[in-house]
Amino acid sequence: MKAKRPPQEYLVCKAKEENFSEMKNEGFEKGEAAAAEVKSESVDSIVAASSAKGKRRFLLICLPLTVPTSPPLGAPLLKAYIERELPEWQVRVLDMNLWCYGRVFDMLRDGSLRFPPQVLGGVKPEELLRIPDFFRGKSEEDFFHTAAAYDHYGGLLAELTGVVSGHLSRVADDCKSGVPSDPLLAQALQRITREQADCYGISMIFDQQLAVGALFGRLLRRQTGKKVFFGGSCFTEGAEDFLRWYPESADVIIDGDGEEPLKQLLAQEGSPDGVSGAVFWRDGQVIRNPPEYRRDIDAYGGAPDFSDLDLANYYSPLPVAPLLLSRGCYWRRCAFCVHYMSAGLTYRLHGLDRVIEILRGLVAQGIRHFSFVDEMIAPGHFDNLARAIIASGLDIAYYALAKPTRAFTPEILRKMAQSGCKYLLWGVESGSQRVLDLMDKGTRVEDMQQVLRDAHTAGIANHVYVMAGFPTETRAEFIETLRFLDRNREAIYSIHRGVFALESGSPIFKHPERFGITKTWLVSPTPLGGRWMYESAGGMSRQEAMELLTSVQPYLRAFHPHAILMAYYRDHAMLLYAQRGMAAMRALPRHFPVPAMLAAPIPAR
Ligand code: SF4
Repeated sequence: MKAKRPPQEYLVCKAKEENFSEMKNEGFEKGEAAAAEVKSESVDSIVAASSAKGKRRFLLICLPLTVPTSPPLGAPLLKAYIERELPEWQVRVLDMNLWCYGRVFDMLRDGSLRFPPQVLGGVKPEELLRIPDFFRGKSEEDFFHTAAAYDHYGGLLAELTGVVSGHLSRVADDCKSGVPSDPLLAQALQRITREQADCYGISMIFDQQLAVGALFGRLLRRQTGKKVFFGGSCFTEGAEDFLRWYPESADVIIDGDGEEPLKQLLAQEGSPDGVSGAVFWRDGQVIRNPPEYRRDIDAYGGAPDFSDLDLANYYSPLPVAPLLLSRGCYWRRCAFCVHYMSAGLTYRLHGLDRVIEILRGLVAQGIRHFSFVDEMIAPGHFDNLARAIIASGLDIAYYALAKPTRAFTPEILRKMAQSGCKYLLWGVESGSQRVLDLMDKGTRVEDMQQVLRDAHTAGIANHVYVMAGFPTETRAEFIETLRFLDRNREAIYSIHRGVFALESGSPIFKHPERFGITKTWLVSPTPLGGRWMYESAGGMSRQEAMELLTSVQPYLRAFHPHAILMAYYRDHAMLLYAQRGMAAMRALPRHFPVPAMLAAPIPAR
């Protein structure tokens, strides 16, 4: 769902009308108790316990605001690694994303947060307050069976996320003083500083977290005098830009794998000397140490430690754990992609024995639903993984991303389904072979069709990504994509769609001339490389591609057998398929309002 840009002032807070220091003592305590979305155990007891052991404390903060359906992965992985490698350090993970959602609902409940009628369609607070229970499966409306209720609450949550996220970013960027006047941000900062720490880490994944992360970093450095380290996948190619944009935000940004550099930083009192991937200021210059990528990622452990997080409080009826079975992508060539760059140009796998050990450990903790959040898992690795899971006897469900090549044989797909694979997110991108070749996608239209049908036969649901407006793509070529989807609609349960964007650092950005781009220009600078636009030698403009995609929206939405937004909250789609079973999904009627352009002959290019 598209996030709306909120108006300037919508957080109408008692805190602004009353004495803020009073609110800190009274309202904040109340808010803490009611919004105890972060684990309910006493912070003081944690501090006391760790003090008694004489350990130093490292606080790892996960930032608002992103989808709250499952816990973060990076921070729990680092916690496990650092506590194993540096026994003198205790690491605590604080999920401020989940905390913020809880606090927003708490403020809606006590009336300190009100939205004017033009925001969120004027929905009443009582309606918004039903969201958490519905997603946690505690509502009278059944999560798995009432598609209309799911879309209703899913839509509200997405809009709320967009509104609050936009608000947080704006007020964070506007905050010049030492204490944010915005109550949500101020309380978030208080929540963080109540956790005594000798050092802080801030994990950032998404662009919408940048401003808040920069503010927290700057204020923590100023108020506590402690070191603050940043890391996370959003710093691919952008750590230096970020540090120049927010010069006081961090002592060190870690680019690349976080485990070893963080260990070194903690061991040498925050000094970045010799720390691979460290980006930092020195003598008025931003310095970047080249990142190193450890070949043997089993040495990192790979088992996330979720013990600081209450998995039952995420917005899913059953816990879903994210896992990484590999680092990087085995293909690393798609012209539009920047994702694989967070692993340099490497593709490194955890050993299967290690993966099974990790899964076994999490299953023993009561988790049996997993999102494998790898950039891309190779078919051969899926084959081995599926065999290993089946041999282990583990009863799990999972989903992952994949590239639809002929290497996904019916046999591999059958094994994957047997091992618990509920659905795959396929990078189809286009139904035009010319466009696929230009993208350097490495796929064939006829192979993609066969793989989707074979996966469907095997009992795996297919979700597919398509992209409109790749430079030089014509309207006729996009209609080829629609025809591809239509030919295979029985086998497809969801379309994830997007319009091409020129990402700084991608192959097409570095070599625009190879892809028919005749001109590029910076539209606006941003903390991570800027927003770029382009002109191409032919094909649709970005605007035309957006309009075309919008015009076929009703058709694309018809692919969903259940709620439209189940695919937006990916974890939920897996839970739905796992709970109801694929046979039940197939029995659900779907009605395709086929667009006129599919009935007409393909226009000339
Ligand atoms: S789009 Fe996927 S397959 Fe292509 S390079 Fe990126 S991560 Fe790899």
